[in-house]
Amino acid sequence: MKQLWCEQQMVYEMEEPSLERETPAMKAGTDLHLARELAVQDIVNVEITSPEDAFAVKLINLIGMAEDFATGAACVRREIPVFGAPYGEGLFLSGIVDEIRCDAETFQLDVVEMKTRANSKTLPSTSQMATHRMQVMLYKKLFDDLVRGAVTKATIALHLRLRLDRRLGDDVLHHLGDRRACDTLGSLTDFAFARLQSLPFVARTTLEYCHQADACCFEMVAVDYDDAWLRAAYARCAGFWRGARAARGVDVEEAWKCRTCEFADTCAWRLRRIEEILSERRSACSERAGIPDRSAPDE
Ligand code: SF4
Repeated sequence: MKQLWCEQQMVYEMEEPSLERETPAMKAGTDLHLARELAVQDIVNVEITSPEDAFAVKLINLIGMAEDFATGAACVRREIPVFGAPYGEGLFLSGIVDEIRCDAETFQLDVVEMKTRANSKTLPSTSQMATHRMQVMLYKKLFDDLVRGAVTKATIALHLRLRLDRRLGDDVLHHLGDRRACDTLGSLTDFAFARLQSLPFVARTTLEYCHQADACCFEMVAVDYDDAWLRAAYARCAGFWRGARAARGVDVEEAWKCRTCEFADTCAWRLRRIEEILSERRSACSERAGIPDRSAPDE
């Protein structure tokens, strides 16, 4: 959700992907996520021979989750892939849900997104939390769209340029076990979708804030899913990706974000905004002093 923090910053980072950006705090967060994943499931290496194989592994993970929840073999799964093309905006979206919990009694599904804090047991800024809220809402939307059958094989093939009739690699087929008859991406997708459509929608979305020092949760924040809000926010984001508008930097009220931004010295958006503000102030001073504004065009 970098786009919500500052779209312009996201663009600069994409333009300079070689820059090393992993801070010790980010590494500690990644390690904590991995430790939590390993606490509930094993990581298995699968040999990938094609893009279709790579997508098939996502489907295998989803099938495993759906079957484990249905049989009661597991009530928590972590690092769950989700994907889809929400709200008909013409974009394909992929994500990894930190955690999905299934209540063994009620079969209710909850999505929990963990965020780690490096320095203190305090919630992040309102702006940062807004990005977290949108992220967890989007995960529910993607998951629910899979459950309701709103994602099609054709959508996947079109956006990811995958061949549905391509035979999957031997190691992928090996990990399919007794489902080896699903030997193409198309047939495996049909199978996975059928399993997913037997699940309920996500009932609750929650943000779990953990302190990196002790790996303990210090606050759970319930997020009320608001489909109308999400649709509008997503449409605003999608406009940029479709090329309908240029990247935007932060608004004046959030200029504090620029203080810690590595692009602040050269950011065209920021420099333009500073120039606009100085120009407005010069005009206001001139007006008060009764001096004609020389920067205004001649009539
Ligand atoms: Fe965004 Fe400010 Fe950084 Fe520019 S300087 S990229 S507006 S955060």
